[in-house]
Amino acid sequence: LSICYSTSIANAEYLKYKDPKQPINARIRDLMSRMTLEEKIGQMTQIERSVASGDVMNKYFIGSVLSGGGSVPAAKASPEAWISMVNEFQQGSLSTRLGIPMIYGIDAVHGHNNVYKATIFPHNVGLGATRDPELVKRIGAATALEVRATGIPYVFAPCIAVCRDPRWGRCYESYSEDPKIVQEMTQIIPGLQGDIPHNSRKGVPFVGGQNKVAACAKHYVGDGGTTTGINENNTVIDFHGLLTTHMPGYYNAIINGVSTVMVSYSSWNGVKMHANYNLITGFLKNTLKFRGFVISDWQGLDRITSPPHANYSMSVLEGIHAGIDMVMVPYNYTEFISNLTSHVKDNHIPMSRIDDAVQRILRVKFQMGLFEHPLADNSQVHQLGSQEHREIAREAVRKSLVLLKNGKAAEKPMLPLPKKAPKILVAGSHADNLGNQCGGWTIEWQGLDGNNLTQGTTILKAIKKTVDPKTEVVYQENPDSNFVKSNKFSYAIVVVGERPYAETFGDSLNLTIAEPGYSTIKNVCGAVKCVVVVISGRPVVIEPYVSKMNALVAAWLPGSEGQGVADVLFGDYGFTGKSPRTWFKTVDQLPMNVGDPHYDPLFPFGFGLTTKPSKDY
Ligand code: BGC
Repeated sequence: LSICYSTSIANAEYLKYKDPKQPINARIRDLMSRMTLEEKIGQMTQIERSVASGDVMNKYFIGSVLSGGGSVPAAKASPEAWISMVNEFQQGSLSTRLGIPMIYGIDAVHGHNNVYKATIFPHNVGLGATRDPELVKRIGAATALEVRATGIPYVFAPCIAVCRDPRWGRCYESYSEDPKIVQEMTQIIPGLQGDIPHNSRKGVPFVGGQNKVAACAKHYVGDGGTTTGINENNTVIDFHGLLTTHMPGYYNAIINGVSTVMVSYSSWNGVKMHANYNLITGFLKNTLKFRGFVISDWQGLDRITSPPHANYSMSVLEGIHAGIDMVMVPYNYTEFISNLTSHVKDNHIPMSRIDDAVQRILRVKFQMGLFEHPLADNSQVHQLGSQEHREIAREAVRKSLVLLKNGKAAEKPMLPLPKKAPKILVAGSHADNLGNQCGGWTIEWQGLDGNNLTQGTTILKAIKKTVDPKTEVVYQENPDSNFVKSNKFSYAIVVVGERPYAETFGDSLNLTIAEPGYSTIKNVCGAVKCVVVVISGRPVVIEPYVSKMNALVAAWLPGSEGQGVADVLFGDYGFTGKSPRTWFKTVDQLPMNVGDPHYDPLFPFGFGLTTKPSKDY
């Protein structure tokens, strides 16, 4: 009897932090007053899902789990399988003494791109070409629904890098070389998280309910400005330049209530961003009043030293001191936990720094309702890859296309193409390849080749669907010129470009399109009237071939809805996209951005011819 009695007393105990009617600040204070150092450091720890389990979550009070790009569940795992994985980890967290929910994060950088069947939107460079922040906001909202459908409440997006050199392998993750366009595209944040309430204080994180996700503005700051575009390298620029070129996106992200900010691997004037107290604590937290949490990049603390992990204890000290609140440790989390614990016990890191980190993490969790709704159910799985979301993606593809050339001198414009023609040729390595169309960060970190990676429409398939049923469509990946000449084609569509890549693997000094792209262009365009569609994450070398082409289209990395390309090529819609980047003539001109004194582009920033739409939208 007495046992029952005391248990029921314990159950009935009023816990202020669990009461959703209490103000968030009071809930945070109450919860923190109950937490041990171990529990606090656990909140600051984010581990990879491959080393997570209910037991690990429980034993180390882990605050967060992520799916790294290279380590997702089996490519074709069902949304239900994702949900049960996330819930299993969450149960481990909920079974701890205080029952603080963990937050699961994933790189949903162009739709829910790790998940089979999800809608794959154009990569950011293409969205920059749309100049349509309202559309980008809708993409954010659709992405949030798809991510939530798999039980995940947090995305490592948007990347608001301002790519100043296309030789950078992450250039396609950047909306533009122009800080203003990047700033406008931060409208994806209210799409992902919901619109901030009118009375909300600047810098306070906001996620508006169970259909929304916490966003992450990354990578703070200057990631797109490294010398010759080398990934994770050094950005040399004065403070004024940093503020005017790389910072504007963060101003708007914070105004829009972004929940988290990820620190860049790169350095600013020789100082690793992960160790930069002035920019993280001084500028982001104190000056800009950002109240969400700052997360490190994947093993970002390790990389404070070169070689990485050379002095991990010092790196932990520097990174936490600089103001990083949650550490993406992926694997060796016990080493992080023990190092940080020693630093606090030795008074090298004050308790106030730990408390600052933990209250920020808890604020996001409370604010988004994770304490009230920690577990996901299967009720929203129909959102994944829905027709409605595919329509938004298709619209985005249409608006992202940039028409660079339309007709040789004194010739009639070639586009839009007639749907009725006896026989047309489609050629090129990228015409019938969904993997090439989607680029990196699609199902796998580095992307995939071919058509089996996920669901979608290749450009070839879209062309076949769009032309008149009597039009014969011949497809040859790399035809020789005799073949082209000996067939009586009305015209040809050549689709070539870059192969998928991500991060450092995409760093390139020559920026060429993949073999045999140039010979395909030569063989086809030398023999028949041709339009060339370039699929790439950035401007690529296209001279001296432009004069051979009748028309040229930059399609960037359009994603799963290739139908959008055919919609515009055949005139159901007009071309409206404006280049978000300067198109160079030769790579030795780089870096070359709009406003530079030596500006001499092949196609300038903002360039884009138009065609008349035959249908309005
Ligand atoms: C990238 C981040 C990404 C993280 C987690 C890192 O390699 O730089 O952009 O969010 O991995 O996958």
